[in-house]
Amino acid sequence: MADRDNPDSDSATLLEAFRAANLRGLWVVFHDYAGRALAKWVVASEVASVAAGGVAYCLANLNFTQDDHLAHDARFTADAGDFVVLPDPATFAPLPYRAGMGRVLGFLCTEQGDPWEGCPRRRLVAACDALVAHGLAARAAWEPEWTLYRPTANGGYEPADRLSMYSLDRMDGYTALLDRTTQVLDAQGVTVERIGAEFGAGQMEINLRPAAPLRASDDLVTFRETVKALAKEAGLLASFMPKAYEDAPGNGVHLHFSLRSADGAEDRSAGDGPLGLSAELAHFTAGVLTHAPALCGVFAPTVNSYKRLQPASWAPAHIGYGGGNRAALVRVPGTSRPHIEFRAGDHTANPYLALAAFIAAGLDGIARRLDPGTPVAGDLGGMSADALATQGVRMLPRTLAVALDAVEADDVVMNALGGVCGPELLRIRRDELARYERHVGQWERDVYF
Ligand code: GLU
Ligand code: MG
Repeated sequence: MADRDNPDSDSATLLEAFRAANLRGLWVVFHDYAGRALAKWVVASEVASVAAGGVAYCLANLNFTQDDHLAHDARFTADAGDFVVLPDPATFAPLPYRAGMGRVLGFLCTEQGDPWEGCPRRRLVAACDALVAHGLAARAAWEPEWTLYRPTANGGYEPADRLSMYSLDRMDGYTALLDRTTQVLDAQGVTVERIGAEFGAGQMEINLRPAAPLRASDDLVTFRETVKALAKEAGLLASFMPKAYEDAPGNGVHLHFSLRSADGAEDRSAGDGPLGLSAELAHFTAGVLTHAPALCGVFAPTVNSYKRLQPASWAPAHIGYGGGNRAALVRVPGTSRPHIEFRAGDHTANPYLALAAFIAAGLDGIARRLDPGTPVAGDLGGMSADALATQGVRMLPRTLAVALDAVEADDVVMNALGGVCGPELLRIRRDELARYERHVGQWERDVYF
């Protein structure tokens, strides 16, 4: 079995593992800059060729928006040629819920098969390499929330249940589905630690086991595919939309993050710094806070994201860190595992690019020995502007337009995203924003007609 924490494992293992599993097809999956899973199905007789040379895709794929529009002024048009998705054997697993199929994630490469800076997984590997150059390594775990809906007679959807949050009744209502989900994830190498019935009707939350950053993001995308497929199998629909209804809680995907020595042996997260953080993690946190507006644009990159990031919503709207403070952007949970939790992200982000930008922001804090200042106090969402100003607390960007401008203006974040992913991420999200801004919705007719 290939080593999933080491992205450069031997490519011959893929063919071997595929043959040993006696499969008919291989799904080669990658995630575009809008975070969507794209895939091609390779028949068994072609797997040897694809394991060595990858699967070709049209470059223009990367300039399509989430609703399948080629972005205005696209860099990659019909004449731009191809890139290749080279399977990463370390991510191969038979798909327990699709008989006869295997799945593998890939690195985006040039047409000649060389490493390419337009690959989100490579951007994350590069960010981790930069950490190693500082004598550090990271452990990360995404904490996804999602909502289960059932189809209604009139062709719509309603929450799959309306029982109380975190109640045993609600959790037990999904025992068969959640049990199958954890088993199917386990068979794909993804370990679930805890599951809870979240606040919203039909809303769930899972804790994935901390891992090296690349693996943690691989685990998140594997998790989402699995949850969607198994919900469908159960006659339900799993939605990861940041804010599907204004009066229902949003679906976030918080990031838990800790530092270790480069060889992974020693914890570098706990120490004598504020809230029990090590000096390194305190500087790292300061870097995250300094680059928070740009990080917000990468972790929450759609118009819908900003309907989730509202004051007093349990999702953050202000820039600050605090111990056990769920109104803060960065929480330092008082658990046995010292770490920080970044709460702004949602599922419309590409988790590889988001984590790469996060690590670069934190490293900038370490390199410049930035000070995170005093932890914030109180429930920020309910505070007056004056009370916030007294603590020096700024707000996160309130709109996507402001957040994307912050990304573009932030050299540290843009460098982490690289010369392809950064500009093209901005291009597709701005294209979506422009169409959203032209759209006239029912609320406007109700109020202004
Ligand atoms: N649902 C909230 C969010 O969108 C988070 C609730 C919580 O787990 O604290 O971030
Ligand atoms: Mg939660």
